[in-house]
Amino acid sequence: MAVVEPVPSAPGTRRRLRLRSPATLEPIGELEVQGPEDVHAAVERARKAQPGWAALSFDDRARYLKRAVRVLLGRQDEFVDVIVRETGKPRTEALGEILAACDALTFYAKRAKRILADRTVPVHLMKTKRLRLSYRPLGVAGIITPWNFPFILALNPTAQALMAGNTVVLKPSEVTPFSGRLVEELFAAAGLPEGAFNLVLGDGETGAALVEADVDKISFTGSVRTGRKVGEACGRRLVPCTLELGGKDPMIVCADADLERAANGAVYGAFTNAGQVCVSTERVYVVDEVADEFVRRVVARTAELRQGARGEFEIGPMIFANQLEVVERHVADAVAKGARVLAGGRRNPDQPGLFYEPTVLVDVRHDMQIMREETFGPVLPIMRVRDEDEALRLANDSPYGLNANVWTRDKRKGERLAKAIESGSAVVNDCMLTYGVTESPFGGLKDSGVGQVNGEIGLRSFCHAQSILIDRFGAKSEVLWYPYSGRKLSLLRRAMRVLWGTPLGRLFS
Ligand code: NAD
Repeated sequence: MAVVEPVPSAPGTRRRLRLRSPATLEPIGELEVQGPEDVHAAVERARKAQPGWAALSFDDRARYLKRAVRVLLGRQDEFVDVIVRETGKPRTEALGEILAACDALTFYAKRAKRILADRTVPVHLMKTKRLRLSYRPLGVAGIITPWNFPFILALNPTAQALMAGNTVVLKPSEVTPFSGRLVEELFAAAGLPEGAFNLVLGDGETGAALVEADVDKISFTGSVRTGRKVGEACGRRLVPCTLELGGKDPMIVCADADLERAANGAVYGAFTNAGQVCVSTERVYVVDEVADEFVRRVVARTAELRQGARGEFEIGPMIFANQLEVVERHVADAVAKGARVLAGGRRNPDQPGLFYEPTVLVDVRHDMQIMREETFGPVLPIMRVRDEDEALRLANDSPYGLNANVWTRDKRKGERLAKAIESGSAVVNDCMLTYGVTESPFGGLKDSGVGQVNGEIGLRSFCHAQSILIDRFGAKSEVLWYPYSGRKLSLLRRAMRVLWGTPLGRLFS
């Protein structure tokens, strides 16, 4: 049964979708799909509000974000309830979204003023000029987000766009629209000026309308398939975009790894949020001499996990029925090609909702879908390799390049291996996390995306760095200006010889 299904609606009215809880499959609400006119109206509201919002000082804008943190702290249980209701995730994981939101709001509120301050850039050659950089907001940012962390993935780019002086139109996933609506409620409660934040609800049609609307930037988080469409549309319209897409993150376990920590990290990295994390550990390469012990520990830890919908548990349901079908397909393909299931490997028969048991697979090969395509579910395939070189080769044998993790007691080797992996970020002796460390720019290589969010780089990606070159001395003319002459030509030649052909010149070039 789908968790999002169309509801018959009268001709001439908006399409409607019915939502069900992924944990219980009970109906939890309906959603009206907003069309292109609604999107245009939202973009117009944002456009109108933008100059006023950008004219505020950083401190004034920061005040709204800090107020939002106070609202979050005061209403955290209410917000957690909404997230849990439409995702089924454990309360601890839902609270993690609120925690990360408090951090993101505070981080950018406190630091945007410094990161985006006008600055003088020293000029190496043209000493008669002064170069100033000014980070101007782009205008209206369209933000499109997925269902796996429905609150923080909507809130985080919004906080960055707003602090940079843009106004925002957010289109959250149709699978988790009520968590998207929380962002609207939050900023309303924080007293954000009319039009600075705007929400449109709906599915792919609404998202596509936002990409085609009069926006100045698209910040997209979602699948590779949709990301390509968004990228194509932005390319056609020459609108800048960041595309934060899927991953197939590798984990390399070296012979000298702390196996207990690595096994615990593998289980958490693969199963938290029921494996529905863009930086989930999706494939493990463990060096032969420690493989048996590593697998034994992983299977033992997996057996301790509790799956459920009420009380204390670690593993919730899959959030979206279509994704559960992908998981089942990948596991079936692996088993048909010779993989062995050491834990899980099926839907949980004791639960009514979209529950898939945490699954450990061994004897996997690189021609299996489970090693090549994003699974986005609670499955940990473990492959035994000869040595670290083979692990590295297989880690890089992937169309994806989002994140990766390496486990070794030798931190220098860990860093060397991390650098050799073709991924947007990497972690040594831990997993995921790069998204959680707010300073860290985050974004994938290869099919995992274009551009980066978060940290100074992410915040600046919501701006255009305008360079302003100011003449310092006001001479009546410049060497390169008219008139041209043979004398000027030989003067330039001599200057070139000195600058790039002599030791003295190299000091200035
Ligand atoms: P999705 O691509 O199906 O949908 C993402 C968003 O795009 C939704 O809001 C959807 O309504 C909208 N959309 C659909 N069609 C559109 C179109 N033609 N134009 C514009 N918008 C459109 O992805 P999903 O299933 O919601 O999310 C899961 C995917 O997101 C996984 O691949 C996961 O790895 C990825 N993800 C990436 C990151 C990251 O930061 N790299 C983070 C979380 C999730």
